Amino acid sequence: MEAHKLIQESRKIVVKVGSNTLAAKNGLVDLGRMENMVNQICAWMKEGKRVIVVSSGAGICGTAAINKWHRKNDINYKQALCAIGQVELMNAYKNVFDQHGVHVGQMLLTREDFEDQSRNLHIRNTLLTLVDEGVVPIINENDSVSVEEIKIGDNDTLAALTANLWGADLLVLLSDIDGVYDKDPKKNPDAQLIPVVEDAAELSTRIDVHGVSDFGTGGIATKLSAACKVNAYGIPMVLANGSTENILKKLCGGEVPSTVFLGK
Ligand code: ADP
Repeated sequence: MEAHKLIQESRKIVVKVGSNTLAAKNGLVDLGRMENMVNQICAWMKEGKRVIVVSSGAGICGTAAINKWHRKNDINYKQALCAIGQVELMNAYKNVFDQHGVHVGQMLLTREDFEDQSRNLHIRNTLLTLVDEGVVPIINENDSVSVEEIKIGDNDTLAALTANLWGADLLVLLSDIDGVYDKDPKKNPDAQLIPVVEDAAELSTRIDVHGVSDFGTGGIATKLSAACKVNAYGIPMVLANGSTENILKKLCGGEVPSTVFLGK
């Protein structure tokens, strides 16, 4: 099935916005792009769709706020930067959602939260309540408490876990590429886009999955693994380019390329 049909038929959608989608060339948050994204999400909500946002960007927001910490690689500084940046990020989201009269709710999660049955239940109930009340949950990894052992590590996986927990109809991952290619398109101009994937695990064994973009953390491997996770629950996934203006609208109109992961 094509992306536009999947979106049209989906009511509960998780949208993952990558750092690359939010970062301008100078490394700061691109507020225009965030506003564009939020406008489209609110348009979906007016059509009756329910949306959960999984958003990266705390690191870049923190660096923008306290630039002199930029080069400190110390883990304490990195986590402190995320604590500062998360406030900046949410403040930016709040301001743009306010223009539509839509409230946002922040949830910061770690891997342990998904593994523990009782926490799982509470996350699920909080999400359901927020969404039922027309509030948009904005989820990020709780970087300030996540050390290696309890880290999910990338927001593609966090978005997939969220989609499964919520019982979403669709997961949309927005990155800085149009979809999955047979090799890294940034290094290979002849790379071919793969529009439909039925078996993401099998695909990852036969394409080149190396390479991460400037602000990215996961690369394409985490996107394929996210597809495996949601497809196992019968949830399809669309990977598309968040740098394209009005990307969600264009996906609905079938105007832009993307990769759709349907599962076996
Ligand atoms: P984000 O921060 O949006 O999650 P990432 O930087 O983590 O994005 O991952 C996307 C990057 O993965 C692309 O910019 C691309 O350079 C790289 N990449 C490597 N191999 C592939 C491939 N086979 N198909 C598509 N992208 C690939």
